[in-house]
Amino acid sequence: MSFNIAIDGPAGAGKSSVARAAAKKLGYIYVDTGALYRAVGLKFLKSGADTALDCDISAVLKSTVVEIKFINGEQRVLLDGCDVSDEIRTPEASKMASAVSAKPEVRAFLLEMQRKAAADSNVIMDGRDIGTVVLPDADVKIYLTASPEVRAERRFKGTSVSYEAVLADIISRDSADMNREIAPLKKAEDAVLADTSDCGFDESVELIVKIIKERVG
Ligand code: C5P
Repeated sequence: MSFNIAIDGPAGAGKSSVARAAAKKLGYIYVDTGALYRAVGLKFLKSGADTALDCDISAVLKSTVVEIKFINGEQRVLLDGCDVSDEIRTPEASKMASAVSAKPEVRAFLLEMQRKAAADSNVIMDGRDIGTVVLPDADVKIYLTASPEVRAERRFKGTSVSYEAVLADIISRDSADMNREIAPLKKAEDAVLADTSDCGFDESVELIVKIIKERVG
């Protein structure tokens, strides 16, 4: 029997870094589902589309292969056989990920892959709709958030982009993710709310580990 932990929340809440560290402490596999949407976004970028996605979505998806691999416990994402784990982190890929993620065809395309990844292992999976759609029966659901300003501050550190540009990107992606028709970002009714606005990184990890341990022992 495997345990599934769902962590959802807005961009820049620290989900990936906190979930990765918590997974390490607990001996779980960490699955970053945003990377899958980013890989699909990158495919559309490479096929010449822009965020209006004025193209035949299904046709592009038919020629798209997204895979996840784990190397030394770290997730890598392959797009059409190539490792794009670094390439998907650009601002362009972020914007495209948000645009493609509003398309039902894209969500359906990635759904089974996510469920399969959770089927046989103890996983902490993070995203936007993990507790609500992908793993509605997850053993523990956490909605991890922080104020937009705190999230922008965290993202801004170590980048060459201005704080204002990072904040604007976060606010616009939140709004797109929360207001889309299909699988919008929202807290599952049975999710525990974890607001880390006033927490440092280690404290956030401790909080998540505590929430998980209290529920799955
Ligand atoms: O988590 P990350 O910021 O890498 O995700 C990139 C984009 O992918 C998000 O802005 C969101 O639009 C989309 N996404 C999603 N559902 C998920 C994970 C990510 O719609 N489960």
